[in-house]
Amino acid sequence: MVETVILARPRGYCAGVVMAIEALEEAAAENAVRQEGNIVAYHAIVHNHTVVERLEQQHNVRFVENLAELEQMSGQGNTVVFSAHGISPVVRQEANKRGLTTLDATCPLVTKVHSEAKRYAAMGFSILLIGDSSSHQEVIGTFGEAPENTILVSVLGNRKADVKLQDPHTVQVPNPDKCIVLTQTTLSVDDTDKTVDVLKRRFPNLTIPSRSDLCYATKNRQAAVKVIAPQVDMFLVVSSLTSSNGMRLVELAEEITKEAYRVDSVTDIKPDWLDGVKTVGITSAASTPDDLVMSIVEFFRSSNPHLVVREDGGEPEDIEFRKPVRVPAFAS
Ligand code: SF4
Repeated sequence: MVETVILARPRGYCAGVVMAIEALEEAAAENAVRQEGNIVAYHAIVHNHTVVERLEQQHNVRFVENLAELEQMSGQGNTVVFSAHGISPVVRQEANKRGLTTLDATCPLVTKVHSEAKRYAAMGFSILLIGDSSSHQEVIGTFGEAPENTILVSVLGNRKADVKLQDPHTVQVPNPDKCIVLTQTTLSVDDTDKTVDVLKRRFPNLTIPSRSDLCYATKNRQAAVKVIAPQVDMFLVVSSLTSSNGMRLVELAEEITKEAYRVDSVTDIKPDWLDGVKTVGITSAASTPDDLVMSIVEFFRSSNPHLVVREDGGEPEDIEFRKPVRVPAFAS
C-alpha cells in the first residue's frame, strides 16, 4: 500500500502556459458575448490533450495544425491564436493575407530565441539550433525566422531518430568563426550542456548567448525530479506524449529510479506497478493541469486514508507573463 506521496515543487503549469490558456479563454468568451467570429488556434495551444479537449468542449475553440487548414479560413471577426510554442513568420503572413485578426500567445521566452535567430542571421552568422525533433512546433517556428542560416542539430541523448537533425560531432558550418548556438527551450539540461560542449570543442569561436535558451520552467522541473526520484519506489510523470518538457522529465526519472512511468491521467496507472510500492513521487509537465495530479493523490488516498502527502524539490515559482492583445489584420 502506498504510504507517502511526494509532489514535485514546482510542477505543472509554467507562466507561458497560464498566459496562453487564459488569453485563448478570454478571446473565446468575448466572441461568445459578441456572437460573431470564430476562434481558431493554430496548433495545440499547449501540448496537453486534456487542455485541448476542454477548450474544444467548453469554449468551442477549433484547432488547426497546418498552413493548408489556415488557408481555408478568412473573414471579418475571425481570430487565429498562435500557440505558446511560437510560429514561423510565414504563418503570420498567411493569417494577414486571409484578413484574420491574430492573438499571439507565443511564450516570451520562445520569442527571445526568435529574436536571437533574426539578429544573428542579419549579421551573417550560421545558427546551430539544437532540438529534439525537426517537427516540433517550437523548432519549426525558430527555424522559420532564418531558414537560410539555420542548421538543425540533434541534442545528445535524443531518443528520436530524425534525419533532419545533424549530429553535433559531424555538423559543418560555412564559417566556424561566425556561428552561434541556440536551443529549443524544453530540452534536457544535462544533454544540452553536453551537446554545447561538443560544439564548443569543434568550433572554438562559437558564440553562446549569455543567458541559456532553456527556460526556467524546464530547469526547475528537472531539478525537482533529481531531488525526489532517489527517495521513492515509483515515480509518475503526468504528461501528454507530445510534451517535450514532460518527456524529458520521464527520461530523467527513468535514469534515477527503476520504476518511472508517464501517465496522461489516473486511469493509466496499472495495478501491478504498485506491488511493494510505499513511496511515490509525482511531477507533471509544464502544460499539465494540476487537477490531473491531484486526482492521482486522491486515488492513493482512497486505498489509504492515512496517506502522507508532502512537497519537495525547489522553490515555488512566482513568474507571470503579460497576456497578448488581439491585432487586426493589416491590408496586404
Ligand atoms: S515551458 Fe518554458 S518556454 Fe515553454 S511556455 Fe513554459 S515558460 Fe515558456
